[in-house]
Amino acid sequence: MNKLNLKNKNFSLNSNIYVEEINSSLIEVTHIPTQAKIIHIANDDLENFFSLSFKTSPSSSNGVAHVLEHTVLCGSKKFPIKDPFFSMTRRSLNTYMNALTGADFTCYPASSENEKDFYNLLDVYVDSVFHPNLNYLSFLQEGIRLEFSNPSDSSSPLQYKGIVYNEMKGSLNSSEDRLWHKMMEELLSDLPYSYNSGGDPKEIPNLTYQDLLDFHKTYYHPSQCLFFFYGNIPLEKHLAFLEEKVFNKVEKKVIAVPTKKQRRFSAPKEIKAFYPTAEEDKNNKDIVAFGFLTCQISDQKEVLALSLIDSILTENDASVLTLPLLQSGLCNQVETVFESEMSEIPWLIIFRGTEEKHKNALFEIFEKTLKKIIKEKFSNDQIEAAMHQLEFSRTEIDRSSAPYGLTLFMRTALLKQHGCAIENGLKIHSLFAELKKDLSDPNYLTDLIEKYFLSNTNLVKLSLLPDPNLEQKENTFEKEKLKKIKEKLNGAEIEKILKETKELKTFQEKQEGISLNCLPKIDIKDIPQDLKYYPLTSEKNGNFEVFFHQCFTNKIVYVDLVFDLPDLSIEELPLLSLFTSMLTEIGCGKRSYIENLEYINSFIGDINAYLSLNIQATDSNICRPTVSIRGKALYRNAEKLFSLIKDIFSTPNFKDKNRIKELLLQTYTSLSSSINQSAMSYAVSQSLKTLSVPNLMNNQLNGLPLFEKVKEIALNIEKEINPFIEKLNDFQQKILSFSKAEIIISCDKEFFDMLQKNSYYSLTSLKAHTPTVFTNSFTLPASSKNEGKIIASPVAFTAMAFKTIGFDHKDAPYLLLATSISENKILHPLIREQGGAYGSGTTYNPNSGSLYFYAFRDPHIASSLDAFYLAIEELSKGNFEEENLFEAKLQAIQNIDAPTSPGKKALITFYNEKSGKTRKMREEFRKKILLAEKSQVQKAVLNHILIQKEKAKIVSFASIELLEKENIKLPQPLFVQPI
Ligand SMILES: [Zn+2]
Repeated sequence: MNKLNLKNKNFSLNSNIYVEEINSSLIEVTHIPTQAKIIHIANDDLENFFSLSFKTSPSSSNGVAHVLEHTVLCGSKKFPIKDPFFSMTRRSLNTYMNALTGADFTCYPASSENEKDFYNLLDVYVDSVFHPNLNYLSFLQEGIRLEFSNPSDSSSPLQYKGIVYNEMKGSLNSSEDRLWHKMMEELLSDLPYSYNSGGDPKEIPNLTYQDLLDFHKTYYHPSQCLFFFYGNIPLEKHLAFLEEKVFNKVEKKVIAVPTKKQRRFSAPKEIKAFYPTAEEDKNNKDIVAFGFLTCQISDQKEVLALSLIDSILTENDASVLTLPLLQSGLCNQVETVFESEMSEIPWLIIFRGTEEKHKNALFEIFEKTLKKIIKEKFSNDQIEAAMHQLEFSRTEIDRSSAPYGLTLFMRTALLKQHGCAIENGLKIHSLFAELKKDLSDPNYLTDLIEKYFLSNTNLVKLSLLPDPNLEQKENTFEKEKLKKIKEKLNGAEIEKILKETKELKTFQEKQEGISLNCLPKIDIKDIPQDLKYYPLTSEKNGNFEVFFHQCFTNKIVYVDLVFDLPDLSIEELPLLSLFTSMLTEIGCGKRSYIENLEYINSFIGDINAYLSLNIQATDSNICRPTVSIRGKALYRNAEKLFSLIKDIFSTPNFKDKNRIKELLLQTYTSLSSSINQSAMSYAVSQSLKTLSVPNLMNNQLNGLPLFEKVKEIALNIEKEINPFIEKLNDFQQKILSFSKAEIIISCDKEFFDMLQKNSYYSLTSLKAHTPTVFTNSFTLPASSKNEGKIIASPVAFTAMAFKTIGFDHKDAPYLLLATSISENKILHPLIREQGGAYGSGTTYNPNSGSLYFYAFRDPHIASSLDAFYLAIEELSKGNFEEENLFEAKLQAIQNIDAPTSPGKKALITFYNEKSGKTRKMREEFRKKILLAEKSQVQKAVLNHILIQKEKAKIVSFASIELLEKENIKLPQPLFVQPI
């Protein structure tokens, strides 16, 4: 790759560096006429990725960057249709498509494993960002508009509508978001970061259409775009494409984006703010945070040193700063945020599960501990452990939440946009070599602590307190504002609102049909014929069976120890969930929990325990649940990983009362905030719970029952802790025993041979017992009421669920296809475009046989439920096109063929087999999807959903006000209750 010769004379090669850590070449090119920058990370990965990104600095919180990000995707010169972005998600084999508004950038990323598809996507994306139509009606739909609550009646109250508007209302439910924005507003008050680039619902109504057009004109020019590519398609092809589609006849445009600097403060600021909550328990629900402004991003040497310091101080509960803070008993969680991609870098330390009155005491412990560290210096072990963690995170190829290309884009392109050398975001070994020179001065790190944390007046001390009336107050404020606006409206203005409402409705209802043909698409023959299959070899070893999957893991070994779960009662399941999550957080072997966490930090990438239900393909009411301990480590630390797993299994210390108490209270704090944050998944789980035994179990393990159990113990901790510990010890006897177990290993062949030679470092010598067997003896409770659960959220999270057929039913593939058709043809236009909800969908899980409709960050409930029912009716009548079916097939295949992280491939095969799904069954399922006909989908909806329409289970999470308002419209009101 080193001798890259650019044939195209319009481009010049700036650099071409081999980066050993990721086994790739990093190439930087300039398009000479426009001076646009192009980055390519070249390797042999089939999942090619691109991202078009712009520096976009907001100058208010009106959300202009975010609304523009939505609106450019609503039709362009070459693709003049309503919604090319969502249409493309259905017409391609993309493995990822998105658009993201960051604090000071906006990017448009996508990926595909098919070259033709990749360029189809790129074609639509470049036209969207450089030649968008920016239709006024799209602005009203995506951004913000005024409407009368009865759209044709100007005497009814006014209201705000718009997708981004509701999206941001939903995001500000969480204390995390409130904390971050308040902190940025105070700490970086002179920089664009002080604004909410997504938009603050209070300010979004100030945004005008002209603002949107101006913002696009200023920031979205090819010469301002950073073109990022990743994967195995040669760079020359990308350049030829850009030359033809983007740079043709484009001239260089210079825009002056002023680089502002934050003025330093002369003294720390003390700030108080609030977050919404619906919980009556307010003990220990305050959040305290200290924010420090540290170095500039251009000083990459200090950035690296500070990330090292951050890791040493607070990597886990045993870290040198976290430990004394937790042991003070003044808070139950300590977390830090080091945002190294901002132009001036903030470092935040956040305390949860605390009270405002402890703020000064927490600060004193913070200062005292740092002073002690400065005096005693860091040990070599501490430094090495932190370096190990950084090395691990830069080595691992992880695709679990996004394509690997996106991860590397975030590490490099943002540095580029701040004018920094981008290889710093990828390398680690050479950077450490340089850092080690500085570390020869024993004061190097501690001087930085002194400078940035002890003598730093750029400090904000923030208390964020729960306010049960905040949601109501904000709502009333908005209503008053709208009332005043309405009073001032003159006749012409009223006419304008009525007219625009009508025009938008006509625009939204317009069927596109044939005009979608302007979009490129993939043919059925472009779809790979075969199922991606990850083979496992296996061998017996005593009571163990060892499975191995050979693959390139970049010198990391992944190990899972799996054993069956014995019989437990239904009430024990929430406790089992706690047992599993605590298992890897306590002491084991001869190590205390502190020593164990230090050990993990020094040698292990990550270790955790998890449960898997393994619902049987032949009967979706039967499961074969397993418990697993999963760990990963760099090859050089494999022996330590195997012995750690063995210790965790054989000698966990569930007797350490203080630690168990600490973990329990931490869990309570996290779960409390997760109710607002993850309201959608709680609502789904709650709606499914009476439909099948596995659904019931899942809700006990992860849904509201877990939260209720944790709350019950936490609020009575002194009384409840002893029985709880007894239970954990009882579980240890009962669960950590097996008659046989399985081990799954992923790494390369050579390394596996070495593991075999070393008898897997004696992991297989664990002793077997005879546990009881899981008998699937749970009985389902009687069918429950439809529920409305009160949370502090002005927008709703609604789920409607059915029990249908399982994986081995002949119609299962057709139900899967029906979900995409329902989503694309009915729900998206009605719930998102017209209703203004941020999202909606239909999910069918062939494993559990459950099928549900959902809508989130939704200002409505009743009309969304109507849309769900309408989808069922329309599909059961066959009211959809061949084109909808074709798109549904592509979407199903996208999911089945989704690329997997190297460490996860083996698990796919393993757990499928465990659920009785053989390769042949999965192949047949996939084949039926490709061959499906319209009538088969129609009949499946008719026979498995429509006929039991009355049996739907509905659950909605929202504010009491919204629930009551919507309940009036429902034929059968929801049973409203607090959480
Ligand atoms: Zn958005």
